[in-house]
Amino acid sequence: MARILLLFVDGIGMAPAGSDNPLSTVEMPVMRRLLGGPLTTEQILLRDGLLLLSITASLGVPGLPQSGTGQTALFTGENGAVLLGHHVPAFPGPTLRRLIAEHSVFKRVVEAGRRAAFANPLPEDYVAAVEKGERRGSVTTWAAIAGGASVRRGLDDLRRGEAVAWDIVRDHFAERIGAPLPPVSPEEAGRHLAAVAARNDFTAWETFLTDLAAHGRWGLRVDDALARLDGLLGGLLEAAPADLTILLTSDHGNLEDATRRTHTSNPVPLLAAGPLAARFADLASILDLTPRILELLGVGRTAK
Ligand SMILES: [Zn+2]
Repeated sequence: MARILLLFVDGIGMAPAGSDNPLSTVEMPVMRRLLGGPLTTEQILLRDGLLLLSITASLGVPGLPQSGTGQTALFTGENGAVLLGHHVPAFPGPTLRRLIAEHSVFKRVVEAGRRAAFANPLPEDYVAAVEKGERRGSVTTWAAIAGGASVRRGLDDLRRGEAVAWDIVRDHFAERIGAPLPPVSPEEAGRHLAAVAARNDFTAWETFLTDLAAHGRWGLRVDDALARLDGLLGGLLEAAPADLTILLTSDHGNLEDATRRTHTSNPVPLLAAGPLAARFADLASILDLTPRILELLGVGRTAK
């Protein structure tokens, strides 16, 4: 049986290697070993069980791609940017939330009788506040809510090593939620993620460390964000079950251009490692990902 794990890494685009591209200047030994070089356009490849290509995040709408519409595209396959006529940053408004409520990849997988998991912890009080409109929810939060309780993980799951926080080692996450959490190494977090993915047909995990660091927010550093991601990838690859295909992609460029702190119009990477990797080789856009995941999991199309 095919299993798929999607690593959504916010704000990393595909560009050539160079002194202004941290994806090529920061040490990422696991990524280099996997691809034979850095996560840059020079490494585009397809071979047995491994694929790297560039896919567009433009959504066919002018302007720099943004998180709200980009993540809606990734987690639903629906083009909210065309519907609204523009890209939407950060938190989705009513139109995007309607799309997510109907087309969430988690919801589709669960409704087909398969197991889906959002591997990031969503504290119960946070979910309740988002549902009541007291807190703003990200696309993934709304997509996980649409999937129902079986999709979500909480803080107890995180403490048991059955979830992975967006910052990987839990220091920033613990500070944001105002509760102490036992720290983990990036490699250990990667093994936790492999264990969640091994128990589900479809698992997604997100980190926005990369986008925040590239924007220069919260004092986060780009080299630290990439080192954490690389360590997580190391633990994950080492512990991944043989039937798991790991996907890594993004919603828009940002981090790959150190000369500016805004998003970029670069395409984003689609990295696939595992038995189904070649089945993603014809994808062109971030809109294509969810439909292909559903197809490979044998989940039918939405009746319209
Ligand atoms: Zn983003």
